[in-house]
Amino acid sequence: MTFDSLWTRRRLVSAAAAAAVLAVPAIALAQDYPTKPITMVVPFAAGGPTDTVARLLGEHMGRTLGQQIVVENVAGAGGTTGTERVSKAEPDGYTVLLHHQGITAAPALYNNLRYDTKTALEMVGMINHGPMVVVGKKGLQAASAKELFDWMKQNADKITMAHAGVGSNSHVCGLIIQKVLGQKFTFVAYRGTGPAMNDLVAGQIDVLCDQSTNAVPQIQGGTVKAYAVADKARIDSIKDVPTAPEAGFPDMTMRLWNAIYAPKGTPKEIVAKVNAALRKALADPSIKEKFAAVGTSLFPESEWTPEAHHKTFLAELERQAVLLADK
Ligand code: ASP
Repeated sequence: MTFDSLWTRRRLVSAAAAAAVLAVPAIALAQDYPTKPITMVVPFAAGGPTDTVARLLGEHMGRTLGQQIVVENVAGAGGTTGTERVSKAEPDGYTVLLHHQGITAAPALYNNLRYDTKTALEMVGMINHGPMVVVGKKGLQAASAKELFDWMKQNADKITMAHAGVGSNSHVCGLIIQKVLGQKFTFVAYRGTGPAMNDLVAGQIDVLCDQSTNAVPQIQGGTVKAYAVADKARIDSIKDVPTAPEAGFPDMTMRLWNAIYAPKGTPKEIVAKVNAALRKALADPSIKEKFAAVGTSLFPESEWTPEAHHKTFLAELERQAVLLADK
């Protein structure tokens, strides 16, 4: 044996040994998972609707998995900062992302994303879907949706609308309202609609279009004025609030959905374990009730799989690209 071939052989043997060392923990990792707390990244500020969904589900899923799920708010840039963080995290199941469909809107609105939306993540499963709701500060004179939108049309240059960053639901809903009313308003960006709602309650902002998850409790608490549900149907828990189409604005509708993701390359067995914990939470009637109370619905059980999530994700990427093409 020449020195060269011996050296090559040694190198191959040590490469194989290194691979074996790496492979064993990967299998063990999936079998034993989870052995420590899991971080659930929410790409918006604490106290907002995405955060609410994460805390509600995370607590339940953590009990099933036998490890705490710790919510971490990685806010900024309409949810893309948190998404990037998860896309670059170790694919070991200890970092997951809970986001809304803005994740599929971002590629149409940002040309500097540092991850490839189509390939950066594993789909874990879809959660719920629900409508957006238009609310205003208590000091507004408008007593109905029609009065609000008429006033907004006539005073566009004076009106402030809060949102959670470019590509967030509140931002896209604001764009829809602008388009329908044929006016432009002053948009004020926040790190999430938790803080945006606080400023609306404090009277520092005029109007916000946010997920029902965040709007319904404030409407019930009487801290903001409810104007319109941006959907075809009213919400049971705030039955008096008309839909935007009922108020004469048939195109002012927008629904959102939430889902869980893991970094690309997370072992299938681990994704399956997180998915199983998610399904168990979704099958719990008390979770379903809590979602219904704030006007959102769970996806049907047939759509709780990573495969169904992937299908919806790809379809949404295409739909949002068309929807936001001129933005
Ligand atoms: N509701 C926010 C949005 O407009 C996000 C959040 O704070 O959960 O996208």
